[in-house]
Amino acid sequence: REWADAVRTVREFAPAGRVLLICHVSPDGDALGSMLGFALGLRRLGVRDLQATFPDPFEIPEPFVDLPGLDLLVPESQAYPDPDLVLVFDVASESRLGGLVDRLATARATVVLDHHASNTRFGGVHLVDATAAATAVVAEQLLDRLDVPLDVEIAECLYVALATDTGSFRFDMTTPRVHEMAARLIATGLRPGEISRRIFDSRPFGAMKLFADVLGRAQLDPTAAAGHGMVWTYATLDDLARHEQRPYVLDALIDPVRCVAEVDVSVVVKEIAEGEWAVSLRSKGAVDVSAVAVALGGGGHRLAAGFTGYGAPGEVVVAIREHLDAHLIV
Ligand code: 5GP
Ligand code: MN
Ligand code: MN
Repeated sequence: REWADAVRTVREFAPAGRVLLICHVSPDGDALGSMLGFALGLRRLGVRDLQATFPDPFEIPEPFVDLPGLDLLVPESQAYPDPDLVLVFDVASESRLGGLVDRLATARATVVLDHHASNTRFGGVHLVDATAAATAVVAEQLLDRLDVPLDVEIAECLYVALATDTGSFRFDMTTPRVHEMAARLIATGLRPGEISRRIFDSRPFGAMKLFADVLGRAQLDPTAAAGHGMVWTYATLDDLARHEQRPYVLDALIDPVRCVAEVDVSVVVKEIAEGEWAVSLRSKGAVDVSAVAVALGGGGHRLAAGFTGYGAPGEVVVAIREHLDAHLIV
């Protein structure tokens, strides 16, 4: 029924109305890829008044600057103040929409496409599938129901989304359905090797030196999470400034940290303003870090989640540590 509602809503409001697509703050591959892929699909349908945006700061991470459909992207301040239809991508809660949250109120209709178990079911029509590996899976399904055929540009956007949220098809939610979708996308002619190099294997020299500093101060806490163990580190605004790097380069920092074999839980605490930290949490299966993040004001998935923390990084980590035991997966 939700699918029928979503199709009806898009068909009713998109062709003649102003359509605004939005995704979460500090967009990742799934947020941008599912949003831009869907936007290109709407353009193929003949929708003319079409914009895509995300909450300020308006900064597109370097790995995504070649995504098709970027010409549809405008900063928050230029986005339709009173769109007819708002489509929301990869957003678990309104708190991830910054100043764009007011567009939900002014729009005549909203459709939320998402895959977070912690989704708060804000907005009008909900296409929230917690079993989907990426929001792009939901977006592809809706495009299919709208009879939009895949082309190589749509496919590239959706592929970037799928590849980033599945850790290059390595995580547990890499189901047959995910590989079948990847096959459909690759069949349009896109080049997976080239895309992977661009989004995963391309980093400024300064970012490597920054990672060296930050990884060098990582700490092991073997008794955390009832003995499953935790590893954590932090990066400050000064680290970024010293190495002349933009904040998004730190999105990849959790990857080497979560590879530590001795522990289940990994944590990266990233300063976003004086005393304010964006926290990334990962588990290998012993802890529901989504529940931990929700308890601390954030959200996410069982094995990958985040929240905003305050104080000193050590204090943020103590708060996390205190919540781990209560959210063991038995
Ligand atoms: P990452 O660590 O890659 O930034 O985020 C991991 C997961 O947690 C993503 O699914 C992301 O949507 C979610 N997440 C990260 N930070 C926050 C936050 O501050 N609030 C909420 N609700 N979810 C977050
Ligand atoms: Mn995301
Ligand atoms: Mn996602």
